[in-house]
Amino acid sequence: MGPMRTAGSGLSRRPRPARASADRPGGQPPRTDQYNTVLTLLGTTGGMTWWPDCDRASASQALAVGDALYVIDLGFGATRRLAQAFNRGQYVRRGRERIQGELTTFMANVRAVFLTHLHMDHLGDYATFLEVGARSGYGDGKELVVIGPGSRGRLEENHSGYAGGIMTAEAGSDSPATPTPGTRRMTELLLQAFAQNFNDCARDEGYPDLTRILDVREIGDPAAIPWPAGFTPPDPGRPWTSDDTCPAMEPFAVYEDDRLRVSAVLVDHFQVYPSFAYRFDTDDGGLVISGDTGPDTRGNLQRLARGADVLVHEVIDQAWIESAFAGVDRNHPAWPLYDHVMTAHTSSADLGRVAASCQVKTLVLSHIAPGNTPPWRLRAIQRDFPGRLVVGEDLMAMGIGQPFGRLGVHRPAV
Ligand SMILES: [Zn+2]
Ligand SMILES: [Zn+2]
Repeated sequence: MGPMRTAGSGLSRRPRPARASADRPGGQPPRTDQYNTVLTLLGTTGGMTWWPDCDRASASQALAVGDALYVIDLGFGATRRLAQAFNRGQYVRRGRERIQGELTTFMANVRAVFLTHLHMDHLGDYATFLEVGARSGYGDGKELVVIGPGSRGRLEENHSGYAGGIMTAEAGSDSPATPTPGTRRMTELLLQAFAQNFNDCARDEGYPDLTRILDVREIGDPAAIPWPAGFTPPDPGRPWTSDDTCPAMEPFAVYEDDRLRVSAVLVDHFQVYPSFAYRFDTDDGGLVISGDTGPDTRGNLQRLARGADVLVHEVIDQAWIESAFAGVDRNHPAWPLYDHVMTAHTSSADLGRVAASCQVKTLVLSHIAPGNTPPWRLRAIQRDFPGRLVVGEDLMAMGIGQPFGRLGVHRPAV
């Protein structure tokens, strides 16, 4: 890997989705051919609901390094955005007509999927991705790596007074049954749940054998991605605090190929352990994606972001917190959500300070909750952050590093 260069200004701003066509928010796809490393925001909201007057998909990003593609989280709507961003179509000519070709293969270069944690606004489209992606080229003779958290081993504290039953994952590779399946078991059970479809598609349409194509690697599995030396996973036999689920740690490696290196740290999503931030280093620079986290990660996010160019960070609108939860106390039905927002996320009042302490050049706001928060209110974060602030929008793309010369020649991969 060569020395890092400063982030370029290759930002492709797109019109508000509300003004865009139904098929492709913002019209034409962003120019991604001028940079070797390109971040595309696929989904930019978070939370457990669809927000009114808002067309944002849930949390998801794509990172292109040359012709290799990596996907980080797959919240609701992310697969559709992935197609909008990268499916250029494969057409055939018949006279003066242009007709869709037999296949679309825009996912052929997807090498790996990274899941920050197993909340639905980060993986609601995972099953859709597995289903549609096989029709769109991934796994075409190659493996698809999926990296994510292992089994948590402990249920959250019962904040809501829930008195119903507890679901458990009864099958899959792990044993015994668990109420907190990790990435591997979740994937196996999704394949089982959609078995008829996958079997039909394999025999009717030439789908690959997904059980062979998918290479699921759980972070913390000694045989796949071991924890860093000195880290002791929290004891599931006793209650957890943030000191247990997000202790201070050094970044550790989770993936590497000829295009990039990926490292991770635990962040503070309170009892939703493990929850990771990822860093992606290419020859063009460093990108950090926070995942879901409170503002105090015991310095983990700051250590991960050391020398990085771009930080994509979650944000909760402080005005929404103050207005929607005014007067909410422990006896109020909204208390569990309020408690989650306050203990497991970062408000717009805190984010500028966090990003400044990470010393990145560019802060990109994503996982914006509520999704209909007006961008002008979020720009107030600039008061506490001296770098470039970008309020993320779906399908916004930005180059990392320097653009190619006027010839637009791709540098060879290292
Ligand atoms: Zn989230
Ligand atoms: Zn979450």
